[in-house]
Amino acid sequence: MSEKEYSIDTVCQLSDKSIADQWGALSFPIYQSATFAHKGLGESTGFDYTRMQNPTRQQLEYIVASLEHGIDALAMSSGMAAVALVMELFYPGDHFIVDSDLYGGSVRLFNEVSKKNGLTFTTANLSEDNYRALFQDNTKAVYLETPTNPMMNITDIKELADECHKRDALLIVDNTFLSPYFQNPLDLGADIVIHSGTKFLGGHHDTIGGFVVVKDKKIDERIRYLYKTTGAGLAPFDSWLILRGIRTLSLRLERASENAMRLAQYLKSNKHVTKVIYPGLPEHPGHKIMETQARGYGAMVSFEVDSKELVEHILKNVELIYFAESLGGTETLITYPVTQTHADVPKELLERNGITDRLLRLSVGIEGAEDLIADFENVFKSWEALSV
Ligand code: PLP
Repeated sequence: MSEKEYSIDTVCQLSDKSIADQWGALSFPIYQSATFAHKGLGESTGFDYTRMQNPTRQQLEYIVASLEHGIDALAMSSGMAAVALVMELFYPGDHFIVDSDLYGGSVRLFNEVSKKNGLTFTTANLSEDNYRALFQDNTKAVYLETPTNPMMNITDIKELADECHKRDALLIVDNTFLSPYFQNPLDLGADIVIHSGTKFLGGHHDTIGGFVVVKDKKIDERIRYLYKTTGAGLAPFDSWLILRGIRTLSLRLERASENAMRLAQYLKSNKHVTKVIYPGLPEHPGHKIMETQARGYGAMVSFEVDSKELVEHILKNVELIYFAESLGGTETLITYPVTQTHADVPKELLERNGITDRLLRLSVGIEGAEDLIADFENVFKSWEALSV
């Protein structure tokens, strides 16, 4: 059977048999070697130098390409290294349409690095605005997250991909928030998928990594060339950690998304919470699109409370939930976008996106849902006691 015929739970357990360990080790070894010896001239084992290829990294790349239904995946030293590598495909004068609500680090890269390199950008809410009017003769790509970070806007990937292809532009989707377990943008027409592997793929808040997944041979050849040239490939030990993380991707995401739904419903019922944004809730404006393009709603929930003072109280008093930046691990994290993930996003863009100083973002983990709810209950109770 091919990888595509197996269930995604099974794909998480596969390995690249072309480089099977000779002793039959089930946990693929960490090839901690910078270089590889040759028997003679023109007799490479397939591995020459770890900046270009490494067996442990290749195992990981095989699994990620299989999960995303790509022809190749490139494992990078971080999600940002993955975004930066993709931007190297483009040339001065190229124009991009980018979603207005993106991970703050991507916004910083576009504004501070890509613009200096001659790329130009039009920013729009791709889930709402008429993006068709934004294409220019030199538009080479559209860059998207869906759900977006942190406002959870949902864009119809297939519709956007069709429009991009009519205009000879590529569609690049950062699929970090849902992971390949819940969504496969390449199947919906996207040309390039990006992941922060630090998040759900790694899944344990223990390493930083990133991926670029492609489905076109020409793009693959070019990006592999840029990969060896710029040199931000993932180290063997980190590759092994993410490989191990992926073995439980399906179990973790099933539990985390169940917990996310329970927390979203709980927060909705709380009188101090003024808004809950979770695409699994039927009233979410993107809920119907999610039903057609994803297999689940993910483990990210954003919510707004009625005062900034309450935000501070929550962040100071949660006990089980960690106040930390990042997402996608087994422990639940609460993040304050305006001072953490989105600190470098220009103020007017934050305002335009509705990212206020009362907005919090949860990456829901795999603890008992009732314990997570109890953690919030205690925080809200202590807040009410203070206000009497
Ligand atoms: N993309 C998204 C959606 C993210 O949330 C992040 C980081 O939070 C990144 C990319 C960057 O990933 P990394 O932190 O692994 O560089």
